[in-house]
Amino acid sequence: MESAAVLNLFRTSGALLEGHFRLSSGLHSNRYLQSALVLQFPEHATALGRAIAERTAHLQPTVVLSPALGGIVIGQEAAHALGVRAIFAERQDGALTLRRGFSLAPSDRVLIVEDVITTGGSTRETIAVAIAADARVLGAASIIDRGSDPARLSLPLYALAQLVVPSYSPESCPLCADGVPVTKPGSRG
Ligand SMILES: [Zn+2]
Repeated sequence: MESAAVLNLFRTSGALLEGHFRLSSGLHSNRYLQSALVLQFPEHATALGRAIAERTAHLQPTVVLSPALGGIVIGQEAAHALGVRAIFAERQDGALTLRRGFSLAPSDRVLIVEDVITTGGSTRETIAVAIAADARVLGAASIIDRGSDPARLSLPLYALAQLVVPSYSPESCPLCADGVPVTKPGSRG
């Protein structure tokens, strides 16, 4: 799936809004991204999972590991297309951890899958979960890469589309300066 087709899927699903938004962080932006709105359609989720699998099959992963909640649906779909297990890490006392009896073995070849990667912080945390379990991490994949530096992880990053979304403090927001009314979209989750 081409990058433009991915972004178009987000637009037609209402998962990518363009306007003037107050984000949950308090910052303002001209775009709002909510990948749950595209993933609510199973046929879109399957198509995006398949596209991630096509980009990452050469890594020959044995398991997909995703951070909860945002990465679970796309992780499941990518793993299905790759024919491997899908597990997720979730927060307990603030730290990402494997629960529910999920485990990784030293023989496991792990692919991290997320919906959106921004700073890469949660990706790095998820990588650390796999490394702590002595598994080998081969790379990370996401539907959207919101960052501008694909080399900011210590591993290869495969993203279906790049979308750098600028955000501004209200005082320095050019849309506020132009008097454009600001709206608050649903929770970023
Ligand atoms: Zn503004």
